[in-house]
Amino acid sequence: MIQAESVSVSYGIHLALKKISFEVPSGGILGVVGPNGSGKTTLIRALSGVLPLLTGHIRVEGEDISRLAPLERARRVAVIPQALNLPPAFTVWETVLLGRTPHLNWLGQLSEHDRQIARQAMERTNTFELADRFIGELSGGEQQRVLLARALAQAARVLLMDEPTAHLDLRHQLNWLREIRSLAHHDGFTVLMVLHDLNLVARFADRVALLVEGHLQPPGIPEEILTAESLSNVYRIPLKTVLIGEEKHPIILPAGY
Ligand code: ADP
Ligand code: MG
Repeated sequence: MIQAESVSVSYGIHLALKKISFEVPSGGILGVVGPNGSGKTTLIRALSGVLPLLTGHIRVEGEDISRLAPLERARRVAVIPQALNLPPAFTVWETVLLGRTPHLNWLGQLSEHDRQIARQAMERTNTFELADRFIGELSGGEQQRVLLARALAQAARVLLMDEPTAHLDLRHQLNWLREIRSLAHHDGFTVLMVLHDLNLVARFADRVALLVEGHLQPPGIPEEILTAESLSNVYRIPLKTVLIGEEKHPIILPAGY
């Protein structure tokens, strides 16, 4: 569970997050959307505990994130960052094992248990067949799956993801998001994900919140939040929604197409 209460973050005099409050329950997926520069990555970094807060509190599973030591934070929160910045000279297997770092004993030794969890994480993300390949020779999409494997190996119950589908083709996007949904709904993970694709957010997030110039609007169900009117305002282009299928799923499109 994540609880943010009146969180503000500044870079020098620039206020990037302005008194943001929200909650994500265990087993829930909150999708955060908003234009470039609205503060999405800053929000992820604040929630992971690496940025000092100007005001407010962040609690993860009831613990104030600012009071936890880095390794304790890493046992609770796993981050899949926006940039693919994995070390190119490591193999996939070594990279996924790095996810076990917060759990190692004081000698820093890997146990059979650590290796088993890393293997399971790779099976779940279809990266096992890549185990001996070097990161530097993988495609963007393969690297993105390795990032998820490493995050799962970390065995944190809270997953923060910054545009995790950016490097994936359509099939892998859908597989990834189904996997995330099952992690939340079946395994009880708490998920906050930033996604640019409004239609994917509408389909895979339980609740959605719009982040606009550092202000987070109150989260709600996708049909309520992702309306043509509010999105046209936020993105400053005319958009329309079309309802498709028997479930009347909303699809967001530029108006005039
Ligand atoms: P988003 O992820 O929504 O595109 P960011 O959180 O990266 O937005 O950035 C929010 C705002 O904060 C932007 O105006 C950006 O220029 C500024 N910003 C982000 N990181 C830094 C930084 N390290 N130093 C100064 N300003 C930053
Ligand atoms: Mg960003």
